[in-house]
Amino acid sequence: MPSPLEEARYELALANRIIAHEGVLDGFGHVSVRHPTDPGRYLLARSRSPELIEPADIFEFTLDSEPVSAAGVTLYGERVIHGCIYQARPDVNAVCHHHSPSVLPFCVTGVELVPVFHMGAVLGTAAPFWDSRDDFGDTNMLVVKPEEGRSLAKALGSHWMVLMRRHGATIAGTTVRELVFRTVYSHANAEIQLRSMLIGKIAPLSRGEAERTGPYQLQPKPMGRAWEYWTTRLKKSGEVPRARSGGARAGRAAKTRASKTHAAQSPNKLPARKKAARIPAKRSLS
Ligand code: MN
Repeated sequence: MPSPLEEARYELALANRIIAHEGVLDGFGHVSVRHPTDPGRYLLARSRSPELIEPADIFEFTLDSEPVSAAGVTLYGERVIHGCIYQARPDVNAVCHHHSPSVLPFCVTGVELVPVFHMGAVLGTAAPFWDSRDDFGDTNMLVVKPEEGRSLAKALGSHWMVLMRRHGATIAGTTVRELVFRTVYSHANAEIQLRSMLIGKIAPLSRGEAERTGPYQLQPKPMGRAWEYWTTRLKKSGEVPRARSGGARAGRAAKTRASKTHAAQSPNKLPARKKAARIPAKRSLS
């Protein structure tokens, strides 16, 4: 049986690919999960586009966003977004940072993003707006210093989504699947709100509706249905992570074979390890 850590790394690779495949993440952005057995650590990929991430690309970090064992590996520059939210929010176990083209118009204009349809209620009753200039003046707009991460986490407060002026958004979840659900549907809500504003006046769900609808959507049944849909779409596109499933090209037969043998013994893990060994020894700031 795969260990909880192996399971978490695989699910995080899947989450990265699903969010990218659904059009929220592009070449940039990242997704993390709190370590399954050590709440003082989190898991995050090396600096690589989310759609390409394999379980072997995922490393452990302290909540100060220092790598535990990733020497010589190029890392995301904006790791503090994740570490600072895990420090501030013990109830949060998964985080996504993205630059969704549907959400960005709200980050550019400051127009409030509000739940305008029932699925959009998962974004919460409000998405606060963080302007990095308030605390730091002009910067390169990346969130790389611990104090910048703390400022963003403070703006998130007890909410589930924070908009970042002219940059993107950061989303939190209690689990990876909840995070994926919230990320995909808050992006859909942004798109629907934008379109609705073109043809008429918009109003959010009432507070009572939002408070009832969000938790309803995040129950196991709707979330399970969505997860099955998104993972099936990924499989149909040949984009599932390689390590545990036998690879996109191998399909269902290989998945069955792989599930009968220990994941660590799968020959499919070998190419991923070889690839990891070729990573250049430098760090990225983006
Ligand atoms: Mn960013």
